[in-house]
Amino acid sequence: MKKLGFGLMRLPILEDKADQIDIKTLELMVDAFLDQGFNYFDTAWFYHKGQSELAIGKALVDRHPRNSYVLADKMPIALLRPGTKSPEELLQDLESYFNRQLEKTGAGYFDYYLLHSLDRKKFDVAKTYKAYEFIQKKKDQGLIKHIGFSFHDTVDVLEEMLQAYPTMDFVQLQINYLDWIHESIQSQKIYQLARSYDKKIIVMEPVKGGTLSHLPQSMTQKLQEKDPHASTASWAIRFAASLDGVFMVLSGMSNLDQLRDNMTTMKNFQPLSQEDQDFLIQEANWLKEASLIGCTECEYCLNKCPKKIPIPSYFTLYNRDHLDLGLDPKKKYQATRKNNPGPSDCIACGACEKICPQHLEIIDLLKKVDSYFE
Ligand code: SF4
Ligand code: SF4
Repeated sequence: MKKLGFGLMRLPILEDKADQIDIKTLELMVDAFLDQGFNYFDTAWFYHKGQSELAIGKALVDRHPRNSYVLADKMPIALLRPGTKSPEELLQDLESYFNRQLEKTGAGYFDYYLLHSLDRKKFDVAKTYKAYEFIQKKKDQGLIKHIGFSFHDTVDVLEEMLQAYPTMDFVQLQINYLDWIHESIQSQKIYQLARSYDKKIIVMEPVKGGTLSHLPQSMTQKLQEKDPHASTASWAIRFAASLDGVFMVLSGMSNLDQLRDNMTTMKNFQPLSQEDQDFLIQEANWLKEASLIGCTECEYCLNKCPKKIPIPSYFTLYNRDHLDLGLDPKKKYQATRKNNPGPSDCIACGACEKICPQHLEIIDLLKKVDSYFE
């Protein structure tokens, strides 16, 4: 398999609505992707407010032979509520999500299936539910080919999971050159631990939700001097794909241009030299000093916010202004603010912080954004 996977969480949309996926454009993207010899697609229950699984059913599953692509989906652990349910009821919950996913995609089976976005709390829920045993059973029945989990927590929690789940075929980790030596995300340590358990690795967020495709002029210039034909995003993708044991790098692509750029990078993949890897890690230190907010624009918080605050949009605009990208984020902030509740409308209910896979202190960060722009 070629190492580039199509992440289905930032698909082209209509009328700026996350749940209105532009199926015609998606079909063109899917066809171009397959045409160039790529075949890995990654969806999840939460993506596009539940519409991603349906969309890939229409654009891929209904239109291409089942053996021409590889499809990954994920058990939405964040939705599981054990309460005082009996073992039979817990099993019923898992069965119901899994069967619904098979129905929504129409795929018949999943090539890769993950426990989604595990951290300490969701790990406990997964244990209560016996979710690991459940997906293992589905694998034995031939409804899943490879089992794994995606992960957002610290190294010690990962070690517990790797010990508790010895037969997982792979792990999906957040790895990019900005998070490589980040104190709380700890990409490097997490990667090294997974490798020490001999796990195959899928990388998510190689471009950090798009942050590493919009770099400050000075850094863009340095990268262009190294290779005038390579896009800024391509450096981030290659960084992740160059690591030993990484067999797939997911990229959430929103249009044909992004798709083509990624395919050009990965069609005849050339690993980065050690010198270039060191250069990117060194530059990441500079980026960190710009005190960026580590939001990856996954949008999980959006559905949770009772005030409907467009949290990721505000964080992205804040980051862009700090990186001096010349896109006039202040003006864009005013426009966003005019049509939406602002950062100061936050009532500190904490619902967003509970779901944020990046463990961001969203309430405090919104105050920071508010005082910066307002
Ligand atoms: S803490 Fe603020 S931003 Fe977060 S969900 Fe509650 S109101 Fe929305
Ligand atoms: S604040 Fe957290 S949950 Fe919301 S979009 Fe950013 S990373 Fe995702």
